[in-house]
Amino acid sequence: MKKSYKIDVDCANCARKMEDAANATPGVQEASVNFMLLKMNVTFTEGADPKTVMKDVLANCKKVESDCEIYL
Ligand SMILES: [Zn+2]
Repeated sequence: MKKSYKIDVDCANCARKMEDAANATPGVQEASVNFMLLKMNVTFTEGADPKTVMKDVLANCKKVESDCEIYL
């Protein structure tokens, strides 16, 4: 399953940090952040619940970049 989320982040460097944090989150098969469009595309592993996983993704992103936001 693949979903797209609107995000807010101040620069491309922090966007990359968010991408790394998302990819390190269990339940995420692949995440990519587009800083120009302020979007995060996430492919979830089979059986994962996107809502639950995205809460963890957001928490992990906040750890590396406290100013970022993902609109869930
Ligand atoms: Zn930044």
